[in-house]
Amino acid sequence: MRNEGLGSWPARRARKTPHRTALIHGDTTLTYAGLYERTTRLAHALRDSGVRRGDRIAYLGPNHPSYLETLFAAGTLGAVFVPLNTRLAAPELAYQLTDSGAKALVYGPSFAGLVAGLPGNSDVRTYVEVGAEYDQLLGAASGEAIDEPVTADDTCIIMYTSGTTGRPKGAMLTHGNLTWNAVNVLVDQDLIADERALVSAPLFHTAGLNMLTLPVLLKGGTCVLVEAFDPAATFDLIERHRITFMFGVPTMFEHVARHPRWADADLSSLRMLSCGGSPVPTPLIAAYQERGLTFLQGYGMTEASPGVLFLDAEHAVTKAGSAGVPHFFSDVRVVRPDLAPAETGETGEVVVRGPHVMPGYWGLPDETAAVFHDGWFRSGDAARIDEDGYVTIVDRIKDMIISGGENIYPAEIEDQLLAHPDIVECAVIGVPDEKWGEVPRAVVVPREDVALDPDEVLASLAGRLAKYKIPKSVVLADELPRTASGKLLKSRVRKRYGANSQSKEDT
Ligand code: ATP
Repeated sequence: MRNEGLGSWPARRARKTPHRTALIHGDTTLTYAGLYERTTRLAHALRDSGVRRGDRIAYLGPNHPSYLETLFAAGTLGAVFVPLNTRLAAPELAYQLTDSGAKALVYGPSFAGLVAGLPGNSDVRTYVEVGAEYDQLLGAASGEAIDEPVTADDTCIIMYTSGTTGRPKGAMLTHGNLTWNAVNVLVDQDLIADERALVSAPLFHTAGLNMLTLPVLLKGGTCVLVEAFDPAATFDLIERHRITFMFGVPTMFEHVARHPRWADADLSSLRMLSCGGSPVPTPLIAAYQERGLTFLQGYGMTEASPGVLFLDAEHAVTKAGSAGVPHFFSDVRVVRPDLAPAETGETGEVVVRGPHVMPGYWGLPDETAAVFHDGWFRSGDAARIDEDGYVTIVDRIKDMIISGGENIYPAEIEDQLLAHPDIVECAVIGVPDEKWGEVPRAVVVPREDVALDPDEVLASLAGRLAKYKIPKSVVLADELPRTASGKLLKSRVRKRYGANSQSKEDT
């Protein structure tokens, strides 16, 4: 095969394990041979419609086999896959379609109305709706093998970052980047061919696709695709499919652990759970460990395809709270503002290097130059390394609060707040203060049935945090703004709750 990229994976798997199940979605089951055939047909159909090497093909929809078929079909043609976030509003979608210059758009039927209303100024010429139209297209297309030369350095995906800190940027991930990331996951998480993974994290986010689905498919395991995460359904699916492996962001695992079925559901099939994407609270890790489950933590970012650090099962307890050590093919340093290496235990910025790190942002040479230094990618995250080389992520540097000259990382305070039995979610932000410049404020979501007393919350922190880290005010909220993948949108919390007048008395 001349294709060194992801597009060749279905063919290689079909050659090796044609009858094994690749994907399950509802009552539909697809073998690797079936996945290869459908991918090939879709690639022909897209080529017949004018898509060529290097062109962009966007996808908009929930987790579904056609998602992966489109990704692999793009890879078969040497075209570039652009997964779109299903929670975006029409203007945001239009921006990503125009920015990426997508020529084709495959979309789920529930997005037909939204797609029909998109402005006509994009380059999209081919629209394919998943369902009857998509199946018809595949039925009419050739099933003949396509052997387009694709190299590891060709771009495979343009994946937009979460947009937690600003407008999403399109990270260009090559076939090589994604393959090395999958190898890192296989090596460090000991994935097996009999893996049965529950994919309820959205495929348009890097973690659901790259930390879970692609490594499992590379190994020849099975992915159970779920359109939307739901805690009750999660228990059903684990029991029904004897799920062995799951990835989720902390909020997903929080919802599962708080569900009434948590105590007595049959979770015996689970070999490991992997959590990451935002700070993983220590009480959450403890809850899963107490339930006898192997709960692993990972740290990464879209630009690194995304795995960077990983805490293995052996150290999950002794090093709980740390995000582990670098993946096998990843190099990490913690540096000072002048980029000199920080001392052991000193907080600095995480920088990353490795074959899984993107070459740059699509169409943004200045932004690309700004995040690379001497070949190291600057993460914007604060962390410290212990004497054994384990890295603890402290928080995003941008979210740091400076109070009376002291640096305060909100994640540390949030961790303590989440240990409170009546607090479901929380966010700590800095608010202006005449005396200290800035002081921390806690925005907390109490349990539904509880009348939470802000003074009692503050009292519960006394002795557990240095005085200057204890919030000066507490605001009660019904919910916190999050991205589609469950990440806290701190900028929106700041906008909504950061006004000086709000204090615990206002609540
Ligand atoms: P944008 O770049 O558009 O602001 P984003 O940074 O949220 O979005 P992602 O690539 O989805 O984009 O997220 C990566 C970030 O998520 C990391 O830089 C880090 O801040 C955070 N993160 C990921 N895993 C962990 C973890 N285990 N612990 C703490 N933070 C984490």
